[in-house]
Amino acid sequence: MSSFFTKRYAALEPYTPGEQPQDMQYVKLNTNESPFPPSPGVAAAVAAECARLQLYSDPESRKLTEKLAEVYGVKPEQVLMTNGSDEILNFAFMAFADEERPLVFPDISYGFYPVFAQLNHIPYEEIPLKEDFSIDPADYCGGGKTVVLANPNAPTGMSLSLQQIEQIVAGNPDGVVIVDEAYVDFGGESAVCLVDRYENLLVTGTFSKSRSMAGARLGFGIGNAALIRDLNTIKYSTNPYNVNRMTSAAGIAALEENEYYLANCRVIMANREYTAEALRALGFEVLPSCANFIFARRPGVDGGELYRSLKARGILVRHFDKPRIRDFLRISIGTREQMERFVEGVKQCLEA
Ligand SMILES: *Cc1c(COP(=O)(O)O)cnc(C)c1O
Repeated sequence: MSSFFTKRYAALEPYTPGEQPQDMQYVKLNTNESPFPPSPGVAAAVAAECARLQLYSDPESRKLTEKLAEVYGVKPEQVLMTNGSDEILNFAFMAFADEERPLVFPDISYGFYPVFAQLNHIPYEEIPLKEDFSIDPADYCGGGKTVVLANPNAPTGMSLSLQQIEQIVAGNPDGVVIVDEAYVDFGGESAVCLVDRYENLLVTGTFSKSRSMAGARLGFGIGNAALIRDLNTIKYSTNPYNVNRMTSAAGIAALEENEYYLANCRVIMANREYTAEALRALGFEVLPSCANFIFARRPGVDGGELYRSLKARGILVRHFDKPRIRDFLRISIGTREQMERFVEGVKQCLEA
């Protein structure tokens, strides 16, 4: 820390992204990216847009917003497009949480929530997941807090039903409930259908996982038009051109080829079941997942050690050195071939 770094952030512990190693070709199953490239129209749309890079992007991302609203069955004024969904999470924390409406989220969830809370000096409470790593909706009802839940949750992969989400939203009329649906396309139930009925619901989504565009940085929020206006106040006070021209073009092209991504999600779900079965056969406990990853441990095996042995064999997964989940590995689901190599690697590690 330099002597100039402001005291305001002296205690800030930044988010730790998953490794993106450049040294060798790994079977890369550590950051929940898609193993599939973007749909065919995306490259052409981006290439065409390059000729217009001297111009600022449309601060309203109008065409992209309209296209996304059409695909999700909502009105354009219920949508805000952002630079990854991390950005809308930050905007939403800035807009809707403070000392009077502190944040609540599970103790085991997306690592960015406490970071954005600290960055914005918002008090927060972490509610322990149940013994079986599930979320009890009753823990999030009442209290006038700002609730943020990943559904499906990360890194567990476990999900709440639409009915349970509605219970939480209806149970918090005095606070915004942010439902982070980064993984919903892999078998979860979306809460977007509730945004007309609840003025306190904000659903966030991303193109990074199911739409193969982690490197483009595109996310969105869907909610009541008044919430979206508040989020725009934050956006126009932070970065009005938050979605760049190439990403916007890529997003529109991707939404026009939505079937391609839905088909990829079905492949990932099938590969997920294959991998979960193979791990169970090797004595692993695998949490029930509705995401493009699984969370698993083998009784008697140290999670950190297994992570390192796999890495030495060229297989990269994610390990969190955190109480309760130290012995788990989070394994992103890739192609069938990648998952076969992963299972083979695990067998070798267990034998060694
Ligand atoms: C990956 C992820 C995000 C956001 O990713 P972006 O790339 O910023 O869109 C948000 N929430 C969860 C739980 C995630 O795993």
